[in-house]
Amino acid sequence: MSSIAKSYVQPAAAVAILLFWTYAPAAWTTTPWAIVLATALTTAFVQLLEFLDERHAGWRLDRREFLTDLFYVVLGMTAIAWVTAHLAEAPLTALKQALGITTPWAMRMPFLLQVALVVLLIEFGQYWMHRLMHNALPLWLTHAPHHHLTQLNAMKGSVGNPIELVLISLSVVALFDLPLPAVFCGLNILVLVSSFAHANTRFDPPLWYAFVFTTIRSHSLHHSTDYASTRCNYANSLILLDRLFGTFRAGEAEEVGQDERRRLSIREQMLFPFQPAIARIRDRHARSAATAG
Ligand SMILES: [Zn+2]
Ligand SMILES: [Zn+2]
Repeated sequence: MSSIAKSYVQPAAAVAILLFWTYAPAAWTTTPWAIVLATALTTAFVQLLEFLDERHAGWRLDRREFLTDLFYVVLGMTAIAWVTAHLAEAPLTALKQALGITTPWAMRMPFLLQVALVVLLIEFGQYWMHRLMHNALPLWLTHAPHHHLTQLNAMKGSVGNPIELVLISLSVVALFDLPLPAVFCGLNILVLVSSFAHANTRFDPPLWYAFVFTTIRSHSLHHSTDYASTRCNYANSLILLDRLFGTFRAGEAEEVGQDERRRLSIREQMLFPFQPAIARIRDRHARSAATAG
């Protein structure tokens, strides 16, 4: 496949997703299973591309990486999705009803604009939450496990401490009246972009696409080994926001990770935010044991 043809794989996939949610029968596009299935298929598609044309041999998936990534994708679709739906979206919907907030204009917009609104609302929230995570210590402790990744792959966008995964998925979309297929389409586009932005492939999109959407180039730089270089390119999918808010940096990184590129196990990723507290308790125990001895 020529490099020009390869560069159009990602935009073509985005168009295919858009066409599916626009024209598929409502019986398909309004069931919650549709977005679960679409997310799984989209992720699998990008994962397969990794095997066709890898970017760095050092990022090649092995069994351990694959199983860890898969664990987080399943966690994201089950526990994280449940917590977000029940603890964030349900109260927000209740608030919307209690305050009588309605947005009939959003229901009347063309489908493409509805999808764009969903993408913008989610990404705007993600951008600022992510930027805050890099600037406030307690939040950084939840986000750091994502930066301890020592290689990038299609499913790596789902890997992180569960507290971070819930925080980063918060959005105000539930305050708007929007058709379900438009919400699902927006989510599906975000899954596509974020999978490509973490994927070990050479399917680099054209410049106009990379001006708007996050790519593996801009996102790998965010995963740099030196902390200073990670403080740019915060947008998960809409790099346009970094350009607007002055945090965009051009470049690309091959070596990724933190703390001398130490890989964390799932257990370490889960416990990471509690490390300072665990260290304090251990310290106290060690001191009282020393006094007793
Ligand atoms: Zn980050
Ligand atoms: Zn990332």
